[in-house]
Amino acid sequence: MERIYLSPPDVGERERELLLDAFDSGWIAPLGPHVDEFEREFAARLGLSDAVALASGTAGLHLALLVLGIGPGDDVVLPSLTFAATANAVRYVGARPCFVDSTPVSWNIDPDLVAEELDERARSGRPARAVIAVDLYGQCANYDRLEALCAEHGIPLIADAAESLGATYRDKPAGSFGTVAVFSFNGNKIMTTSGGGMLVSNDSRLTARARHLATQAREPALHYEHRDVGYNYRLSNLLAALGRAQLESLDHKIARRRTIHERYREAFSDLDDVAFMPIDPNGTPNWWLTVLTIDEATGIRPDDLCRSLDAADIEARPAWKPMHLQPAFRDFPMRDGRIAEAVFRTGVCLPSGSNLTDSDQDRVIDVVRAALQAR
Ligand SMILES: *Cc1c(COP(=O)(O)O)cnc(C)c1O
Repeated sequence: MERIYLSPPDVGERERELLLDAFDSGWIAPLGPHVDEFEREFAARLGLSDAVALASGTAGLHLALLVLGIGPGDDVVLPSLTFAATANAVRYVGARPCFVDSTPVSWNIDPDLVAEELDERARSGRPARAVIAVDLYGQCANYDRLEALCAEHGIPLIADAAESLGATYRDKPAGSFGTVAVFSFNGNKIMTTSGGGMLVSNDSRLTARARHLATQAREPALHYEHRDVGYNYRLSNLLAALGRAQLESLDHKIARRRTIHERYREAFSDLDDVAFMPIDPNGTPNWWLTVLTIDEATGIRPDDLCRSLDAADIEARPAWKPMHLQPAFRDFPMRDGRIAEAVFRTGVCLPSGSNLTDSDQDRVIDVVRAALQAR
């Protein structure tokens, strides 16, 4: 029996075909025709005017903060319950992360707490300069409220949509909310370029600026002229070819992950100690990862279940450890934290890859059931 992974790349003949096309065309370079086409197809799919293909989602978050002028000493409001990359980017520009707890409605940043945070900071004479929302595990944050709050305070909203490509909120696609949004094509995401990312916006001045900074800030002069400090953040033509093939089958991948999610729900429906990440009825996730929670009264912690699964050669992971509990970010402000901490104490991400077979999923289900019934 082969090891079952959490969310491995799902690639096939079409990926091979386009990758070889890029190879044979001689564009073994950062940039090239596949990058241009990938950006065009990606923006079109989201109904946005522009997309900038990048080396990673983290680079996208860094650039988003830079093009919005966020810098040293600025306060940026973001959820504590996220992957470290969101908070790291805030530190790259020298800004201060101000962490906020999640809502039990979706585990995303709680708009009521964001309202409190923005009001208090404004009253204190040190207003927040931006908000970053994260679409956790493929489910959109409450953009109705977050867009209104940011407009009220006159600050930009960045959407970290690294995990949510293909999800919707009130029938609008993830990535179409806020001032700038960022996607990731890391190997474990719903589609992958092995490593890569995309920055999107409807503000062409912002995307042009991001493209410029991502290309070493080279001015259009024959000699090498630089007015700004730049970065080497662009996606290679080879990887963009992979991305184009992956985008073609995105809807299939979403449908497959949804089926996997529904099969888990069905399989554990008789277990009173098990629940799932709550789904906000205003949106439809892309079902990137199925996250279940184990009632604390069972005494079974996420690490225990992950170890039982690992012993059966199955990869599972606890939910993200909140940033305010991380040594790297412990000294920054945190508003509440009870929901994020409860998710961390109870949540387990189960294998959810779009290439997971039914029989492999049955193996996962059997081990989870045995672990929960053995206590
Ligand atoms: C994966 C991820 C990122 C980082 O993307 P990379 O492409 O790996 O740099 C950022 N934020 C969240 C929420 C993520 O899950």
